[in-house]
Amino acid sequence: MKQQKVNVSFEFFPPKNEGAICSLWNNINRLEPLKPRFISVTYGAGGSTRENTHDLVKQIKKKTNLQPAAHLTCINSTKEEIEFIANDYWISGIKHIVALRGDVPTHNNNVKSDFKYATDLISFLRKKHDFEITVSAYPEIHPDSNSIEQEYDVLKKKIDLGATKAITQFFFDVEYYFKFIDGAIKRGIKIPIIPGILPVTNCERTIEFAKKMNCKMPIKLKNMFKGLDSDQETRKLVAATIAYDQCDKLISGGVKDFHFYTLNRADLSFAICHILGVKPKADK
Ligand code: FAD
Repeated sequence: MKQQKVNVSFEFFPPKNEGAICSLWNNINRLEPLKPRFISVTYGAGGSTRENTHDLVKQIKKKTNLQPAAHLTCINSTKEEIEFIANDYWISGIKHIVALRGDVPTHNNNVKSDFKYATDLISFLRKKHDFEITVSAYPEIHPDSNSIEQEYDVLKKKIDLGATKAITQFFFDVEYYFKFIDGAIKRGIKIPIIPGILPVTNCERTIEFAKKMNCKMPIKLKNMFKGLDSDQETRKLVAATIAYDQCDKLISGGVKDFHFYTLNRADLSFAICHILGVKPKADK
């Protein structure tokens, strides 16, 4: 086991009902002693989870010692709406925003949008307050992009506008990540590009999502889940093994920071962190 220090962050989504709220807090409390760099909360497309995201981010700030980061998407939003949200976060002490465009709705909903890209949101936010801005990056190319060159150009633009860190879309083949980082270095991109790690528990759903996001899932990995549809316990063990293997390869290539897409469940991320040497302080 490598002994170098690993830093982690965790992503949650806002709960939809009372039962989910209770479970979410249990999961947040389980991960808090690992002292993550930050914990981020997603924002539903078009502002659909607006209140819930804001409430959760503020509650995290109030009830824990964690540093929350609020995801914010701008598509289908007006400047007034975003300004209100930005001011509200700033005065509540939430100074870290994960600035995103969001998915463009497939149906024509005629909603006014003052923003076209995440870059528009970043420049708007930077004019309002001195937020720490984190952005997305896509090692396997975003479905709306024409080329990897476009990904680098957009990332460079985001950095020029003030982004200081990027988190990647989840991926399974670490070679895509390493290739993306090599290309970034060659193009003078210097900000940390943190790999987004998705511990897979529902293989079918992940395959569907991965297809939509242009993310390739190796056959070997799909085969590991075969025959486990009704065996959740074994699926979890397999998922932890796969994600650990991925992190281990990334560490061997020099990666020290990881962002876990927890899907609101602490168990897998906790187990993987434990193997990576990220343990509650009292255990050290
Ligand atoms: P952008 O970076 O704006 O890129 C979108 C497309 O536009 C790309 O093809 C890009 O090349 C192009 N583009 C960008 N800027 C320009 C420009 N200035 N000129 C020309 N072309 C440009 N979705 C949610 O709904 N809620 C979330 O909380 C959420 N969190 C996420 C967190 C992470 C770490 C990641 C990787 C994704 C997240 N998403 C979330 C998904 C994301 O909203 C979608 O992938 C969305 O389709 C793109 O958003 P973006 O900010 O990455 O887009």
